[in-house]
Amino acid sequence: MPDRPLVSAVVPCLNEEQSLPRLRERLVPVLEALGTWQILLVDDGSTDGTLDVMRAMHTEDPRIQYVSFSRNFGHEAASTAGLAHATGTWVVLIDADLQDPPEVIAELLARGQEGFDVVTARRRARAGERMTKKLTSALFYRALALAVSDFELPLDTGDFRILSRRAVDGFNRMPERNRFVRGMIAWSGFRTSEVVYDREARVAGETKYGPLQLVALALDAMTGFSTVPLRLSSWLGFAITGFAALGAMVVVVQRLFFGLDIEGYAFQTVSMLFLGGVQLLMLGLLGEYVGRIYEEVKRRPLYLVAESTAGRPEGVD
Ligand code: UDP
Ligand code: MG
Repeated sequence: MPDRPLVSAVVPCLNEEQSLPRLRERLVPVLEALGTWQILLVDDGSTDGTLDVMRAMHTEDPRIQYVSFSRNFGHEAASTAGLAHATGTWVVLIDADLQDPPEVIAELLARGQEGFDVVTARRRARAGERMTKKLTSALFYRALALAVSDFELPLDTGDFRILSRRAVDGFNRMPERNRFVRGMIAWSGFRTSEVVYDREARVAGETKYGPLQLVALALDAMTGFSTVPLRLSSWLGFAITGFAALGAMVVVVQRLFFGLDIEGYAFQTVSMLFLGGVQLLMLGLLGEYVGRIYEEVKRRPLYLVAESTAGRPEGVD
């Protein structure tokens, strides 16, 4: 058994050289007040001075450790690496940009110690985010909740949360390549509670999640946790075949009993285009799943570490 600090704070960082010193300023006093701690910074292939900042911080205080990727592997991979390397009895996932206020960690831990393995932080307000981002986020969570049925996915929570050692160990056993961290933690099913907080605006730098990244994440989440989209094509197939049969009967009756000729090349074109569209859409959907199966069977590592002070990971690497 390693000598565990009480709390490890895992911080995925992509180009956060400006945020990191400010994060440290606010995070360290919070952790200090709780007990023994470790900060585990994950450099997700930053192209600015993020890694230099991390090295300097580690030299000043060895409780601040880092793992640096060989290139950008994405936020979910960075969180995964952080959870694999963190040694704490409790592990907090927190963003580098101070949108997740470190002060909330005390509340998260207190709630966890009341007997919960996962305590999520739900955001009440989102300061400094565009209307479109709020809207897409809201849509994203609703659509996802619809698709996922065998366990409950907490709404409007980011990755900001605390996990017990047991929950972290559980997470570390999940080997899939397409990762949606929030969903995977929810899937594990441990007792979960939530704390509500106000989300702040980024201290520095820019969001790395544009609408495209959100769509990609949504696809990963959907396909990773639900096969409902696959069934969609069967349902649509049934419905359209039903309509078509009905339509055919109407046409026959009209022709035979009322002698009506249906003029309908417009209708034909429209229905052909519609069906073509539906078929392509369903093919694409199938492709999404097939592509992910391909990623899974390749069994490539989720990320490659170029430099690290954090020792060997306990979990999947
Ligand atoms: N991040 C990362 N890898 C990426 C994208 C983001 O490690 O490929 C980090 C980023 O540095 C930040 C956190 O993930 O600490 C959340 O990213 P961001 O603030 O850009 O997302 P938002 O808060 O806008 O959803
Ligand atoms: Mg942010």
